[in-house]
Amino acid sequence: GLRMSEKPKLAMYWGSACGGCEISVLNIHEHILAVDEIFDIAFFPCIADFKVHHVESYDDGYIDVCLWNGAIRNSENEEMAHLLRKKSKVMVAFGSCAYEGCIPALSNLTSKEATFNTVYGENASLDNPEGVVPLTSVEVAEGTLTLPEFYHTVKSLDQVVDVDYYLPGCPPEPPQIWAVLQVVVAGLLEGAPLPPAGSVVGVTNVAVCEECERVKSEKCIEKFYRPYEIIPDPEQCLLEQGIMCMGLATNGGCGALCPQVGMGCRGCYGPLPGVEDQGAKMLSAVASVINAGEAGMEEHELEEKIQAVVDTIVDPAGTFYRFSMSHSLLRRAKVNGNGKGEA
Ligand code: SF4
Repeated sequence: GLRMSEKPKLAMYWGSACGGCEISVLNIHEHILAVDEIFDIAFFPCIADFKVHHVESYDDGYIDVCLWNGAIRNSENEEMAHLLRKKSKVMVAFGSCAYEGCIPALSNLTSKEATFNTVYGENASLDNPEGVVPLTSVEVAEGTLTLPEFYHTVKSLDQVVDVDYYLPGCPPEPPQIWAVLQVVVAGLLEGAPLPPAGSVVGVTNVAVCEECERVKSEKCIEKFYRPYEIIPDPEQCLLEQGIMCMGLATNGGCGALCPQVGMGCRGCYGPLPGVEDQGAKMLSAVASVINAGEAGMEEHELEEKIQAVVDTIVDPAGTFYRFSMSHSLLRRAKVNGNGKGEA
């Protein structure tokens, strides 16, 4: 085996995230023993007791690979992203939040104030008559307590630091994580060629539909159903049955796991190569498969018919941009925040 000092150093840290990315790393099963064999863990607060001052004490570039998961939602996330970027040779945006904002970035559809109001104000499970909200600095008898600043706009990792690789997924699928780690290790230890900087790794670069074994035929949708409203045919394409499925607009690599079990693809692997806006791509795909009426219909009848189908899509923005809001052309809705629509 390698001596401790010769092993490449691995870090994993979370920004605004749910913890699922860490679980997916641990979910590579027995390969985790190989990860432990190959790497020294340099920072991984979820599984080992490291402190920020340990990272600060490292030389720049000391960490070989940093798997950063989570979006940039507050000033702590941003400071840690800068620190880990400086200390890491290879920075991986790991998982959908780091890659393109994911669920946290859906709050870009509203303002910081509205988010605080939902979380700390008008919430049935709250007892907060004084309307207390977190402050960045509070004086107490023992001294000053501080909290990170909560940003108006959630950003992806590459909107604050340079990113070498993107590994999509909510969370990334364990076989893909293992494959990517092997490529990086071969590069670090054996000098094998690494993917070009900026690559999206762990993907097939063809649509999820290509991996999906469901039978595809003519798509002509009259109505969209929520998953609980319908028991889907086990063989037929879900979208053809009126179940929203983002497979047409989403990069493969997951093995089409969701559609295989009757749940439409949510889009977590992000856009296909060359597509700037996954939501817009899906919108145009949906527009081309809805039943647009019969020949000879009056224009207003046609409009009503199309509108009726579109109205059955619940929460279109949250559906089409569930994972990609930070990377979308829209990026955030124009609402009153700090007045500039910016963090
Ligand atoms: Fe594509 Fe979804 Fe239909 Fe499968 S179920 S073929 S992923 S649209």
